[in-house]
Amino acid sequence: MGATVQDVGHFGADGPGLFVLYTGGTIGMLEGPGGGLAPLDLHSLMKYVPTAHELPVGLTVAAFDEAIDSATIGVADWLAIADALVEHSPGHIGSVVLHGTDTMAYSASALSFLLEGITTPIVLTGAQRPITSIRSDGRENLTTALEVAAARFTGAPVVPEVSIFFNDVLLRGNRAAKVHASSYRGFASPNLAPLATAGVSLDYATDLVRAPGTGPLRRPGGMSTDVAVIQLHPAFDEASLTATLSRDGLRGVVLQAYGAGNGPTHRWFLDGLQQAVDRGVTVVVTTQCRAGTVQAGLYASGAALLSTGAISAGDMTFEAAVTKLMVLLDRHADPDDVRREMQQDLCGEITV
Ligand code: ASP
Repeated sequence: MGATVQDVGHFGADGPGLFVLYTGGTIGMLEGPGGGLAPLDLHSLMKYVPTAHELPVGLTVAAFDEAIDSATIGVADWLAIADALVEHSPGHIGSVVLHGTDTMAYSASALSFLLEGITTPIVLTGAQRPITSIRSDGRENLTTALEVAAARFTGAPVVPEVSIFFNDVLLRGNRAAKVHASSYRGFASPNLAPLATAGVSLDYATDLVRAPGTGPLRRPGGMSTDVAVIQLHPAFDEASLTATLSRDGLRGVVLQAYGAGNGPTHRWFLDGLQQAVDRGVTVVVTTQCRAGTVQAGLYASGAALLSTGAISAGDMTFEAAVTKLMVLLDRHADPDDVRREMQQDLCGEITV
């Protein structure tokens, strides 16, 4: 069961404004008496963001019925976020999703693949320190995310795509990754320069920003959970491979290989993958490196991997590869269609 989204109210100026969805995460937490962090309800949270009331645009605010730690997020929550964005998209010039940092890059990737017809900005943000704390990064992150979502140039939205604003960078959502557990510079997109950098001014890299889609915003399908992940390590053995590949209903595997897409050349490994591919499982090879790309056949060990019928994820992030595979497995019954689209650039997630 996923979260239910509840409308909370309207804040600030009248007229077409921004839709803000609060899902939870550290940004909206308060330190309890025992020292642990617990989520705040949205009304209490808004008190800590006085700047939100001073923006020239109004905010329509909604929230998960219960704010969550994003470590617990799942497909049903992603569908609930996507549907809330679709429902509120008419009449709003952009959206901001407040989200925990732990899985924000997965959620941004998932939304980018789930949604079609994106014509206005959808900006995810959060914080490493609660907004209730004096040194919170949450106020700046939220204020700038709102500014990005409202930004227009000659009447058109400046960044009509799913993005993450964090600290001083605006990143394409399906290119981003959480790269630090505590630094305020928590996110990066190693294979794509930021869509904007925030200093005294907000400087947009307009040449990198995707063209708007053809609206209306819609969510044509869902996500399959018939996927598994294999992270290679030197002690990875046949029993581990068999345990993963024999999972009931398995239709997709994301393999976290080494370097340029290399893996062991043991017969049990290659044969195991080959048999999975032959029975229709889509095996996608990513790299454990944060930056760079899988290069088919650069090494014999990589070529052997791809000779099983596994496909290359190119320079996609792991987060993008997993969520894209989940969306494509829901969209197509035929593995050939999944494999073909997996290697295409659907929304700026891969360099083809
Ligand atoms: N565990 C929190 C979450 O992802 C961490 C954060 O928000 O920074 O919801």
